[in-house]
Amino acid sequence: MPDWLIFLAVILLLGIGWFIGRSQALYFIPDSSPPQSSSRLFKGLNYLINEQPDQAIHYFVSMLEEDSESIDLQIILAKLFRKQGELDRAITIHQRLLARPNLTEATIDRIHIELAQNYYSAGLHDRAEQLLLDLVHSKSSGKATDLLFSIWEDQKEWDQIIEITPTLKFLTESAKARVVGAACELFVRQPDTGFRYLTLAERHRADSVMLNYHFAEAHLADKAYRKAIKRLKKVVALDQSMIPVVLPVARRCFEHGVWGLNYHSLLNEWFQIHPSFSLVKEIFSILMHEEGVDSAKVFLSDYLQTHPSIPGLVQLVDLHLQTGHWEDTSTVKMFRGLCDQIIDHDMKYQCQKCGYQTMKMYWQCPGCRAWESIRPIYGLNAE
Ligand SMILES: [Zn+2]
Repeated sequence: MPDWLIFLAVILLLGIGWFIGRSQALYFIPDSSPPQSSSRLFKGLNYLINEQPDQAIHYFVSMLEEDSESIDLQIILAKLFRKQGELDRAITIHQRLLARPNLTEATIDRIHIELAQNYYSAGLHDRAEQLLLDLVHSKSSGKATDLLFSIWEDQKEWDQIIEITPTLKFLTESAKARVVGAACELFVRQPDTGFRYLTLAERHRADSVMLNYHFAEAHLADKAYRKAIKRLKKVVALDQSMIPVVLPVARRCFEHGVWGLNYHSLLNEWFQIHPSFSLVKEIFSILMHEEGVDSAKVFLSDYLQTHPSIPGLVQLVDLHLQTGHWEDTSTVKMFRGLCDQIIDHDMKYQCQKCGYQTMKMYWQCPGCRAWESIRPIYGLNAE
């Protein structure tokens, strides 16, 4: 069943609870006769559960003919129309509701937010934006800001998000994630002048892995290597599984020389807390260079005893091919080629929210559009 149907079903179940409560408070209902209104709501709900939205709409329309005052029911019906693509009908319901006298401020805001969603779905982006801009400083600012930011995010209007943020008194957690996302996007587009965006975003979410990673890149570009390493250490402290992602930036810092710090020490420090294979490869090549092949071979063999992996096995086979004295290596090379094919075809990253898998690291999931939800995959054929 689609997510929106489940969402509607939950709303309806809550509505039924309220409806039954209200019915029982107003009228005496004998035990022997089932409450008619709730049984009717259950029938409408059954249509939704059985993925029959047309029948559900028909049913709720007939219920409204009997209880035309119910704003909640009208809003649910308009949502159904919107999901079915019948935007004109959804807009008409909301406009008719707004024409009612004596609506509370909260109800008017709620209907306006629904109306903005209709406008956005209908491609009337300017009208949706204008409605929401009028609401972002109201008591319903949280929902209005969330929707406005998601519209700007879809349009990749990152600068709009950044410009309005300092004027807002309240941001939900999802809005804060979008501010950080917008700041990082703008920094990547304009690395020379984009540092200020990162600083602004840090006020809202200092514990963002993505933000600290981009700070490290900014410091690296400014040749502030110690500051860059400090940011990378913060990323690892926030989420150890990100070590394979930060490793290339750390390497670049040390390639340029970080006075008083030792790359090997940092790698060993991270290896103790999270022995991912990217770290093993890096330590292995340092050992080869500094201590020789025997030391590197012992390190790799010991690691594979406790963390067996195909990439690790390939590394060991390569070492034997380079240093061994075999008469015929064709079979070993064929085996190695097969392993390479397995490694190359497997995904390296996965979204923790929707399960989307990818070969490339993304800060925003292409599947579910969540920020900072993608992490390296760990297992026999990965990290
Ligand atoms: Zn996802």
